[in-house]
Amino acid sequence: EEAAWSAGLDVLRRLTEAGHPAYLVGGCVRDRLLGRRGGDIDIATAAEPTAVMSLFADVLPTGLKHGTVTVREAGFGFEVTTFRQESGYSDARHPDAVAFVRDVREDLARRDFTVNAMAMDADGALVDPFGGQADMRDRVLRAVGHAAERFGEDALRMLRGIRFAAELGYRIDESTWDGLLARRDKLRLVAMERVGAELDKMIGGADPARALTLLSESGLADRTAEPLPPAVVAGLRAAAGEMAAAMNAQGEPIGGDLRWAALFVGCGATAADVLATLRVLRYAGRRAERIASVARLHERLSGAIPGGPFGRRKAIAEGAGAIAGEAREGWIRAVLDFGREAARDWLRLAEAAPSAIALGGPDGPYREASRWLREMPAAAASELAVRGDELVRHAGLPAGPWVARHLRLLLEEVALGRAANEKTVLLAAFASHLRKER
Ligand code: ATP
Ligand code: MG
Repeated sequence: EEAAWSAGLDVLRRLTEAGHPAYLVGGCVRDRLLGRRGGDIDIATAAEPTAVMSLFADVLPTGLKHGTVTVREAGFGFEVTTFRQESGYSDARHPDAVAFVRDVREDLARRDFTVNAMAMDADGALVDPFGGQADMRDRVLRAVGHAAERFGEDALRMLRGIRFAAELGYRIDESTWDGLLARRDKLRLVAMERVGAELDKMIGGADPARALTLLSESGLADRTAEPLPPAVVAGLRAAAGEMAAAMNAQGEPIGGDLRWAALFVGCGATAADVLATLRVLRYAGRRAERIASVARLHERLSGAIPGGPFGRRKAIAEGAGAIAGEAREGWIRAVLDFGREAARDWLRLAEAAPSAIALGGPDGPYREASRWLREMPAAAASELAVRGDELVRHAGLPAGPWVARHLRLLLEEVALGRAANEKTVLLAAFASHLRKER
C-alpha cells in the first residue's frame, strides 16, 4: 500500500519536473484522508497523453480517447488522465464530448461527490474547491454542483451515492437526496450489468443494511431497466434488518456470497425470485449457483417445498424424538439434493444470525444439523465406494438412466447410515434394489 503510494508520488514528480502540473485524484485521496485502505491510485495531469507517453518507459495507451494512459512504475499500474471536462450526456450515461483543460479545478468539477473531487500534489497539498474536507468532517455526502443536473448527466451516480453513503457511514445531504429523487426515473437508462456491479459493491461493503434501506427509500430498487422481482423489491427493508442482525452477530461476519443469500432469505424470496434476480443483475456461473443453492436449500427447509424438516421446529424443540429423526432424514436428503457446500453456507448463515436469518430461531436444530452433516459418509454419488460402470457390469444390463437412479438410492442409504460405504455392501444392496424393482 505505502509502496504503491510512493510509486504514485514518483510518477507525479516526474510529470511536474517536466513542467506538467499533476495530482493524485478522486477515491485514492478520499481514502488516504480517511485513513482507509484504498483501491486504485489515479493521477490527473495537464499533460496530454502523447506527452505522458514520451516521459515514461513502461506505458500503455489504455484509454486514449478519454485521455488515459497507464503508467507502470515499481510494479504498480497508474491510470494517468489528462485534465478534462465533459459535456453533453444526452443519454444519461456518457458525455457527448470530452475536452482537455488546463486547470485541475475544471477536472474536479466533473466528478460526482465533493469527497471524490479533491486532488493532492506530490507535496501533499490539497486542491479542494468544493469543500470535500468540510463534508468529510461533517460526514455528509454531497453532489458537486447542482445535484439533479449531475444525476441527470449520469444516472449511475445515484447508485454510487448510495454506495458511498453506506460505505463511509455518511448522511446524504438534503439537496443531493432531493436531486436523486427528482432523477430516479433515469435509472432505467443504466445497463443492468453496471447496476449489478454497484449492488454487489454495496452488499459486499461496510454497511449493506444501510445500502438496502437507502435503495428502498429512494425508490431506485423499483426503477431498474429490467425489473427486479416484486417480492425482492418489497422485501428490501426486512432484508436490511436481517442483514444488520447477521452483520452484528457475534462471530465472524459473513462475506460476499453469503450476504446475498442472507438478503434473499431476509426478503422471503422464493428460489425462483432468487434466480430471476441473479439473472437480471447479470450474475452468472459459480457465484450465482452458490447463492441460488443456499436459497433453494432454505426454501426446502422452510417447508415451502413439502417435506421441509425445519417446518416442524416446534415439535423438535419439544424434543420429540421421532420427529427429530424425521428432521434428520429431511436434512440429509436436502444435503444430497443441494450439496454439502450449500448446507455449510446455510449453517453459516444460521450461526451468524440465528434469530434473523435461520428458521426456527436460536433454538432450531442447527447444532444437530451440523453434526448430521459432518457424520454423512457420502454426500454425492462420486463419494460412493461403487461406481456407475460397476453397477452396469454387476447387473449385466446396458447402461441407461437407471444407473443414476440406483446410485442415488445407494447414496441415500449410505448418507442415512443404513448401509456402509463399502463396495461389497453396496453391490449387495444394489442387487436387492434390482430384485424389488422387478
Ligand atoms: P472506489 O474505487 O472505492 O469504488 P472511487 O471514488 O475510486 O471509489 P472510481 O469508480 O474508481 O471510484 O472512480 C475514481 C474517481 O473518478 C471518483 O473518485 C470520482 O472522482 C470519479 N468518478 C468515477 N465515476 C464517476 C461518475 N460516474 N461520475 C463522476 N465522477 C466519477
Ligand atoms: Mg477507485
